[in-house]
Amino acid sequence: MQLPHNVLLCLQRLEEAGFPAYVVGGCVRDAVLGLQPHDFDMCTAALPEEICRIFADFPLIHNGIKHGTVGVIFPGPEVYEITTFRTEGDYADSRHPDWVAFVPEVEQDLARRDFTVNAMAYSPTRGFADPFGGRQDLHQGILRAVGEAPRRFTEDALRILRGVRFAVTYGLQVEEETMQAMISLAPRMEHLARERVFEELCKLLPKINARQLAEFAPVLTQVLPELAPMRDFDQHNPHHLYDLYTHTAHVVEAVPADLTLRWAALLHDVGKIPTFVLDEKGCGHFRGHAEVSATMADEILLRLKAPNDLRQQVTALIGLHMNWLLPEKKLVRRWLSRLGQQRLEQLLQLQQADMGSKGQPEPLERFDDIRALIAEILEENACLSLRDLAVNGNDLKALGYEGSAIGAALNRLLEAVLEEKTENTRAALLAWLEETR
Ligand code: ATP
Ligand code: MG
Repeated sequence: MQLPHNVLLCLQRLEEAGFPAYVVGGCVRDAVLGLQPHDFDMCTAALPEEICRIFADFPLIHNGIKHGTVGVIFPGPEVYEITTFRTEGDYADSRHPDWVAFVPEVEQDLARRDFTVNAMAYSPTRGFADPFGGRQDLHQGILRAVGEAPRRFTEDALRILRGVRFAVTYGLQVEEETMQAMISLAPRMEHLARERVFEELCKLLPKINARQLAEFAPVLTQVLPELAPMRDFDQHNPHHLYDLYTHTAHVVEAVPADLTLRWAALLHDVGKIPTFVLDEKGCGHFRGHAEVSATMADEILLRLKAPNDLRQQVTALIGLHMNWLLPEKKLVRRWLSRLGQQRLEQLLQLQQADMGSKGQPEPLERFDDIRALIAEILEENACLSLRDLAVNGNDLKALGYEGSAIGAALNRLLEAVLEEKTENTRAALLAWLEETR
């Protein structure tokens, strides 16, 4: 396993002071998979005060010290965390251990970790410490809890969602007992801090595919209960061959792995449940479901303490997802003016994924036609906002406009240009303004 120079230096100093020292956790897992680790955590038998002494010539971060963690700051700055081997007491609150205690052996430290693939340590001089067979599980593509699965998920219910994340990120199959425990203990996630749930969901959403969304539905519907009634929900519509949850899962997979789009895809049809009406012919209708989905998505993301900008972008996309665009230049120009290029492209991606996820072939050429028109409009440097107008507020002041009348006149001009009633040249705009005054 290749280790960065500064990591080797840390391990070497600890060993020279007489303390076994390893890299541990995610970096070992990633290296065994042949992936580039994104950070290197270390663990050692040295107590926190000994770590501080050994690295006294470096700036240090002390705020994790009561859990045994010291941060060593290298120029860059580059921070490496070194944590004393530790074991943990019970988790009375399903969140935090009641106590932690420092221990002398790396194996004792590895035993407190969540999954076998995360419970490996490596030292250039000592080799691998892998008491739970993490390497074998990785090579066989298995995700397995360390020790007794039910107990580990009862201790800390966040491990359930972490499990989903590791399974989808690395394409691992969850071992049977581990899976059973994840599902049966999923209700305990109710007590988790919402931010942590949201953070895990954000990490797994860009990686997950439709099959995995189905597989982990019993877990995911615990933290997103609005999705639960969508499972097996028959839309009573000849165009929709899938149940509502399966459709949603395909839309999530079909949009690019961008957080806004993935959240929008996941929640775009939650409003179909409360708006469902069956007509006398046995056909399902969901009038106004886009707006209802947007409202529900807003509530869900508020509850999960999502950042405001993400929440607003997601709900805006969901609210618009039934506004189908036609490949007509004037219309496309209007939408471009209203949403901007990036938002409009996101809306198209959501709609295309939605249209393409009904379980039967649907014509999707219109999306390419719309994109071609967008390119054409941008190529023409079309006037899409007040900024792009060939006149400005001063021009209007010179004509005698004052106060709010200036903004109103500029908006009228933009409207006229978008409607192709006038060209966007100074002379044409001023003439049009005179004519319509
Ligand atoms: P990544 O950083 O790629 O998301 P990671 O495995 O490094 O994955 P971290 O959250 O950085 O995950 O945690 C580092 C290590 O600490 C994990 O590999 C695991 O051994 C242990 N760990 C983290 N969270 C838990 C937990 N909730 N329960 C038990 N062990 C945990
Ligand atoms: Mg990590």
